[in-house]
Amino acid sequence: MAEEKSLNFLEEIVESDLKGGKYKNISTRFPPEPNGYLHLGHAKSICLNFGLASKYGGKTNLRFDDTNPVTEETEYVESIKGDVKWLGFHWSEELYASDYFGQLYTYAHILIDKGLAYVDDSTSEEMASQKGTPTQAGTDSPHRRRSIEENKRLFTEMKDGKYPDGSKVLRAKIDMSHTNMLMRDPVIYRVKHAHHHRTGDTWCIYPMYDFAHGQSDSIEQITHSICTLEFVPHRELYDWFIAQLDIYPSRQYEFARLNMTYTMMSKRKLLQLVNEKHVNGWDDPRMPTLSGARRRGYTPEAIREFCDRIGVAKRDNLIDIGLLEFCLREHLNKIAERRMVVFDPLKVVITNYPEGKSEVLRGENLPEGDSTREVPFGRELWIERDDFMEVPAKKYFRLAPGQMVRLKSAFIIKCEEFIKDANGTVTELRCTYVPESRSGSDTSGINVKGVIHWVSAQHAVPAEIRLYDRLFVTEDMNAIEDDFTNHLNPNSLQVLKTVYAEPALANSKTGEQFQFLRMGYFCLDPDATPNKLIFNRTVTLRDTWTKEAGK
Ligand code: ATP
Ligand code: MG
Repeated sequence: MAEEKSLNFLEEIVESDLKGGKYKNISTRFPPEPNGYLHLGHAKSICLNFGLASKYGGKTNLRFDDTNPVTEETEYVESIKGDVKWLGFHWSEELYASDYFGQLYTYAHILIDKGLAYVDDSTSEEMASQKGTPTQAGTDSPHRRRSIEENKRLFTEMKDGKYPDGSKVLRAKIDMSHTNMLMRDPVIYRVKHAHHHRTGDTWCIYPMYDFAHGQSDSIEQITHSICTLEFVPHRELYDWFIAQLDIYPSRQYEFARLNMTYTMMSKRKLLQLVNEKHVNGWDDPRMPTLSGARRRGYTPEAIREFCDRIGVAKRDNLIDIGLLEFCLREHLNKIAERRMVVFDPLKVVITNYPEGKSEVLRGENLPEGDSTREVPFGRELWIERDDFMEVPAKKYFRLAPGQMVRLKSAFIIKCEEFIKDANGTVTELRCTYVPESRSGSDTSGINVKGVIHWVSAQHAVPAEIRLYDRLFVTEDMNAIEDDFTNHLNPNSLQVLKTVYAEPALANSKTGEQFQFLRMGYFCLDPDATPNKLIFNRTVTLRDTWTKEAGK
């Protein structure tokens, strides 16, 4: 029987709300700001919001939090939609905070009418000094006592474009000595003469996040508005607006954001990596973005499994990226077909195999099941250079003068001789093969310990391999105090250009995942062309980092 998983704290809240009859159905939303590409942290939020709704029969909206015209673009909207779908989720409605600009403007007037908002001409420096400190009360703005009529007129004029950027704001009138600094008359509207990616030039005033988010939740009747811990102090304000406007009582709940070792997840900093060309774009396979992960060969199943395993925490923590890689290996091991690719080729000539002859052997695609592929064999082969040692080390079971090895899915061969060039580099092995040792019908009676991969030289297709390592060398990128670019791993990308792949790989499709025997998991990069195969290493076969750390 499957182990019963205990409920996370959000599931407990939802179950008790449903049991107590507070709601018949729940609604959640995923609210990205379209100012960058989604990353693995967002995947956590997506899995949580969509997961809760689907577990309890509710719905989830995709809402773009697009209240900041300067940083937002349609390109980001499209990539976000693609990423959510790729992760395997379907939103109920696609909505935009900017759809509510009219409604939010009306809400602002309601607050003004109730004497709960005022237009302030203070500069941002003046407002900052009015704020006080956590231990010291703030001071009232000289404009705090404006009449309701004057506020209505000025706010309307703000909207009508009468004032330049930064000259006036609308502030909520709460309490300048409130213990929560965010409640000290927060700014709720600002003047910004900027083109918006959806509303164009209709508006020159834009609501602040706090004035848009809760009300948008309320308009959509979101029951559980889930966000990350940095919004805890905002909750009071979220509730205040809902209470004063007397609108649908959405509730905010906070959980710990996902932080991973050797990884940095902040759209602003990821944008900097892209702009400063530390990486080759948002979808560079080293990026923690979902588009980078996809290009690298990560599967949505593995990411969802990872998000499920880490659970939902109430305190900030740091998750070992090794757990994500573990989930990935588990999934790829099941689905990725096996292929043979030689990364550092050394020529082998089978001297007792007739010249001009070749034959087709069969290689199994997966350890389970009986699907196979054609693997051609001939007199000349490529093997890995480090599968030969001139003077074999102890317990070295691969090729060495006089030693035998099995070629995977093929024959046993024996190294008879090796040839060196003038520099002393081995350039060729001369081997013999045992014709009766063919895999699947081996009657040779010979037992060999080593099995190596290989490719027929005559049939091989050249390929390029891109090996990726961690983008940062520092374990906890949240703890650093200096410039994050100081922590970049200079060896995060290694390109191998003289690689030979078995011919079955010639028809691979972009994104198709493979296990290259003994070498790791790989997928075809979109840069590949029919004449040039390019594979990305998704993940190694084993966790080499933990091994090294344990040395
Ligand atoms: P960033 O700081 O990377 O720009 P953000 O929080 O500003 O992220 P939003 O587009 O506002 O990005 O985020 C959409 C949703 O995803 C929010 O509910 C946010 O709390 C959540 N989210 C963002 N980063 C993480 C993370 N690392 N772990 C979990 N949830 C996250
Ligand atoms: Mg944000």
